[in-house]
Amino acid sequence: MSKQFKNKTCAYCTTPNSSTTGDHVFAREFFDEKHRHNLPKVPACERCNNEKSKLEHYLTTVLPFASRMKDAESDLRQNVARRLRRNHKLDRSLASGMEFRQVERDGTLKKQMTLPFDGSKYHELFALMVRGLIVHHWNLHLPTDYDVFATTATKSGEGFFENYLGLYAEQQISTILGDGMFQYIGKQAVNDHGFSVWKFTFAGGAQVLGDDYLSSSVIYAMSAKKEIIEHLCSHVR
Ligand SMILES: [Zn+2]
Repeated sequence: MSKQFKNKTCAYCTTPNSSTTGDHVFAREFFDEKHRHNLPKVPACERCNNEKSKLEHYLTTVLPFASRMKDAESDLRQNVARRLRRNHKLDRSLASGMEFRQVERDGTLKKQMTLPFDGSKYHELFALMVRGLIVHHWNLHLPTDYDVFATTATKSGEGFFENYLGLYAEQQISTILGDGMFQYIGKQAVNDHGFSVWKFTFAGGAQVLGDDYLSSSVIYAMSAKKEIIEHLCSHVR
């Protein structure tokens, strides 16, 4: 491991001199092998790196089942079974909640396997990724009185976030990773650099089916002072 990511401030918990490794903000496992180079990387402490890996592992195991990506079927065959073999606890919880339902795909109803999906893990991971991206793009660690909120797009939430994304920004990021696997936009407020709004589009429209059967793959996120985030949590979800 190069020195670049050692003894730096952890991008996720912001503890000074705590980093032991370079963490890929977007897990390499989310991408085809040919798209795994040049992914954003930030310093992370061991604890944050492990916590984030658990969330990523959960998602890389669950998401391909519902993905619309053209290679989803081969991914299902080749990778998911292998991942499940390595994680028996997850295997059991997924197997017990597995069911078939009719899903609209390319205009026709098709039978598709769906799995129980813990949306809170999805949102927790995206909140961490936003912290990582703020460090990667703007070299800013969020002050301790700031927090990040991430949520799957809903009809009521969409307008709220889109409104912010339309405003004039101090800095603006727009990136496509892994041949469209992820797209994201980030905007930083002019007067408050810890205030930022993000939009992630995952896998060109992967269907995420959860407890509440969300069918959207758009994630919105906001970093702001804690009191704003608390207010947001009670209104947008
Ligand atoms: Zn940390």
